[in-house]
Amino acid sequence: MERNLVGDVVDKIGGKVRLKGWVDTVRDHGKITFVDLRDRTGIIQCVGANLERVSPESVVEVIGMVAARPEKLINPKIKTGSVEIQIESLKIISPAAELPFDMGTDDLNLDLPTLLDYRALTLRHPKQQAIFKVQAVIINAFRQALLKKDFVEFQAPSIISSVPEGGAEVFKVKYFDHEAYLSQSPQLYKSLLVGVFERVFSVNQIFRAEPSVTTRHLTEATSLDAEFGFIDSWKDVLEMEEYVVRHIFSEVGKECKNELALFGATLPTLSDKIPVLKLRQAQEIIFERTGRDIRAEKDLAPEDEREICKWSSEEKGSDLVFISHFVTKKKPFYVYADPEDPTYGFSVDLLGRGVEWSSGGQRLNDYEEIIEHIHDWGLKEKDVELYLQSFKYGVPPLGGFALGAERVTMHMLGLKNIREASLFPRDMERIDTRLSETTQK
Ligand code: ATP
Ligand code: MG
Repeated sequence: MERNLVGDVVDKIGGKVRLKGWVDTVRDHGKITFVDLRDRTGIIQCVGANLERVSPESVVEVIGMVAARPEKLINPKIKTGSVEIQIESLKIISPAAELPFDMGTDDLNLDLPTLLDYRALTLRHPKQQAIFKVQAVIINAFRQALLKKDFVEFQAPSIISSVPEGGAEVFKVKYFDHEAYLSQSPQLYKSLLVGVFERVFSVNQIFRAEPSVTTRHLTEATSLDAEFGFIDSWKDVLEMEEYVVRHIFSEVGKECKNELALFGATLPTLSDKIPVLKLRQAQEIIFERTGRDIRAEKDLAPEDEREICKWSSEEKGSDLVFISHFVTKKKPFYVYADPEDPTYGFSVDLLGRGVEWSSGGQRLNDYEEIIEHIHDWGLKEKDVELYLQSFKYGVPPLGGFALGAERVTMHMLGLKNIREASLFPRDMERIDTRLSETTQK
């Protein structure tokens, strides 16, 4: 008899099935025992008499008849709530040791360190699984959206020889007799590859030696990077990014209804067009709304990002907002300075629900201008030799963006800490095991 999946049994009333999965919960009522069995497609109640003792999370095989539940015992909360399995045999395939906490509740109710200390176990909880199903849909939707537009996926290297984008937050690697670094971003490679494929994207790990513990930074994150050539203006980059983000929302809306419901989450609201504000306009609005004068600052602080998102939701009906024209010198050397006022560049952040989701913009493509910026930024040509080689031999006007997959997941589901949106989060205090006993904020 072949294995049946939980998701397929509802319409098999009166039939015999063979299920395999994990014991989600066990409820002993004297001779009668209820076992909720979980597989990759769902959870179902099984009931039997005089069963061998079985512990939660054990892997089991259940053979039994599918029976309709009496009307008053129907559980509308689960898809299989109208039926149950009358157990004929229950075989333990792989027993589970006693659990360190109760896994059979709707929420795990654990503090973050415990949630992460027992990651192999806590990830099995349906609500934890849901986070990563949503993340997989987000990443897949990013891919699909760009594949539809002729982008080519590439694999970026993680070991690099120099850090021309700013060195403070970089991890050094001992590379034989040399020093190397872990890549903070595939930026230079993706731009170089525009000279090859015109349109490229990558889904890759980025590494940042973030020196403080915040709720939105990991030291290893997943970057959804896209870059493309033959743009007419920086606005083409916004348009492409908006198209990608809308596709992500629409896929999550279609594919993750149950997962969103588990978190009581709703997709971010969007109006016809995501509003675009220049940095200085955003600062003016913040000043008008709060009286806080940040109009001379070169960047937005976290509280400014929250305030401008609030403005966007309230005034424009959009939970997302683009901020453009950041201060050129505060951005990496490849930023395209606005010819009308080169103090500001064609750089664009996408903010969503109070936090930065992505950075991007138009990049320089003129070889001589790139060389000039490299000198102005105090960098050495030899540190970006390969990048320069590309532009020396002709690259079209280009731009792109990088979305943080964990940031998007976190804000889509309303999670409080980015660590919850990473399967195996790395931060100053944790590389799977805790590096210190300090509690996380
Ligand atoms: P922030 O200012 O929020 O620290 P950033 O400007 O340093 O972010 P970028 O270099 O612009 O980050 O990276 C592009 C995107 O990658 C960010 O918008 C964010 O979504 C994501 N990202 C960057 N650093 C991290 C990190 N340490 N942890 C999680 N996601 C990150
Ligand atoms: Mg940024």
